[in-house]
Amino acid sequence: IMATALTDKLSGLVKKISGQARITESNVADMLREVRMALLEADVALPVVRDFIARVKDKALGQEVLGSLKPGQALVGIVNRELAATMGEGVADLDLAAQPPAVILMAGLQGAGKTTTTAKLARHLIQKRKKKVLTVSGDVYRPAAIEQLKTVTAQAGADWFPSSADQKPLDIARAALDHARRHYYDVLLVDTAGRLAIDEALMQEIKTLHGALNPVETLFVVDAMQGQDAANTAKAFKDALPLTGIVLTKMDGDSRGGAALSVRQITGAPIKFAGVSEKIDGLEVFDAERHAGRILGMGDILALVEQVSTGVDLEAAKKLADKVKSGSGFDLQDFLGQLQQMKQMGGLGSLMDKLPTQMMAKATDADLNRAEKDIRRKEGIINSMTAQERKKPDLLKASRKRRIAAGAGVQVQEVNRLLKEFEQMQGMMKQMKGGGLMKMMRRMGG
Ligand code: GDP
Repeated sequence: IMATALTDKLSGLVKKISGQARITESNVADMLREVRMALLEADVALPVVRDFIARVKDKALGQEVLGSLKPGQALVGIVNRELAATMGEGVADLDLAAQPPAVILMAGLQGAGKTTTTAKLARHLIQKRKKKVLTVSGDVYRPAAIEQLKTVTAQAGADWFPSSADQKPLDIARAALDHARRHYYDVLLVDTAGRLAIDEALMQEIKTLHGALNPVETLFVVDAMQGQDAANTAKAFKDALPLTGIVLTKMDGDSRGGAALSVRQITGAPIKFAGVSEKIDGLEVFDAERHAGRILGMGDILALVEQVSTGVDLEAAKKLADKVKSGSGFDLQDFLGQLQQMKQMGGLGSLMDKLPTQMMAKATDADLNRAEKDIRRKEGIINSMTAQERKKPDLLKASRKRRIAAGAGVQVQEVNRLLKEFEQMQGMMKQMKGGGLMKMMRRMGG
């Protein structure tokens, strides 16, 4: 696995620590501060961050590290393992009952993406698992929601069971289940009413539905952009229902995905799917390990490395390496040149086939959209710098950064982020100087 932003910070600390024979409480404290910052930046809920740090600290100060030859590395290992353990491992698909119809109950706040996800799941079950699927809406408070489900169900190629605002949700559910049985459906997906905030009546209603339907899956649908709030919502739904899985929607947004860690830890349920667009095919089976990397900033770096490796072909990369070798260092102007080259080549999407296969598996459409948007913003930032600043990034102190941020219409943090990425890229360029290009490519394939 390639280095992550956090891992870079940690390895800096590791270097500091590794000269020392003993690991001290203050070494650990430094390191944990970095981890804590990274998690908070990723929008992980504060109580979840606290728990996580406490667990890591326990282990760090315990036998495992003290007994190890390289205490610093052992610490990094603990953080990575703890993160992976919290996220759960690998991939969890839907459990379908041995005795059809399998009922899948959708729970979550209004706007979380329940209706959209219901249709996406219907499509997934039809295409990937060859199931006969029926959907029904119990949202009798919003007739428009029932119509919406009808529309998207048709897009999914599934069947829709009619319901209306004058019925009781429980009656609707029973009638739909009866219909599903008599017509040999494999799966019945039950969309439910959501409110704008948690309320007792809503929870009671969905509990009653759960009791009557005895679903094999009770999926909690939550908006990844909700960040800190996702944790509170998750707690309320977990207390009301035995959740069997989570669907994290709107992962195509700007969130760093910290909600995943919060929701996962609070509910104890596996995250089964991620919503990555508004479209009917915008659903991915959730990959916990990959996501753990994203939380710690790996996604950013992966995107950056992809930019290097795809934006310049090997030929161009060598030229660049030569330039580095000849002593004329890699500067922000070069960085900009790479970004522009990528755009000329027709966007990231068209570069997909140039990627090594392992990397291709990692790059989703959402990643590509994000990366393309990202390039434009980065270009804007570098374009707001003077030629001298591009040559000598060291000139970029606070007041210049503020000017550049204002020029590009972004926050100063984004300028800082770009500079950090630039430094990382510079670091990689230096490695190439040592003939390490292939090594670097291998590492990226990770
Ligand atoms: P519900 O009230 O929980 O049923 O939520 P909806 O299914 O109506 O979704 C609310 C809004 O979020 C709609 O505009 C959807 O198109 C949008 N949406 C749902 N899932 C996703 C997703 O994964 N990505 C994006 N970008 N939008 C989504």
